[in-house]
Amino acid sequence: MIRVVTLDEFEPPILKQLNKLLYTAFAIGAEHSGSVTVPHGQVEPYDANKLLESLPKVQAFVDDKVLFLTSRKLSPRKLPSGEAPTTGLSRYRSQRSIVSTSSLKTLTADNIETVARYAMQEIGHSFGLHHCLDPRCAMYPPWTPSYPQGEATFCTFCRETSEAQIRLTKS
Ligand SMILES: [Zn+2]
Ligand SMILES: [Zn+2]
Repeated sequence: MIRVVTLDEFEPPILKQLNKLLYTAFAIGAEHSGSVTVPHGQVEPYDANKLLESLPKVQAFVDDKVLFLTSRKLSPRKLPSGEAPTTGLSRYRSQRSIVSTSSLKTLTADNIETVARYAMQEIGHSFGLHHCLDPRCAMYPPWTPSYPQGEATFCTFCRETSEAQIRLTKS
């Protein structure tokens, strides 16, 4: 199960759509599991690493994934070529990830797919998936200019890898 936990307010229909897209992508349930408050002392743009570590514990089973969703900005990441906006963060094979929707001004039925793609990227990493060379795949590097226009899908290889990982982690 993917548990979406919000840090800011999001429209329920938008969250529902996001969960539907995540369900389709991973073939496991996704639901809005509540909201938490950002710990004191953290200011926008958030340091994604610090934020991910300091967010309160969320009730979840060992094989659940917890996706924190914020509309606030995360500090840009430094690349050899300069700075790139941080759309999310996760660690390989861990439970928690965070995604920011700040690159989209207003969330609509038309651009929620972009958010789903960012979420798939981070949840994908948390299932052990690496970046992918297929530009259509959600595991393609998210700071590339074409990334936000893509669909909320994995390539066959990433889809099969994530399915295998999900089968392995299921108790
Ligand atoms: Zn990534
Ligand atoms: Zn792929």
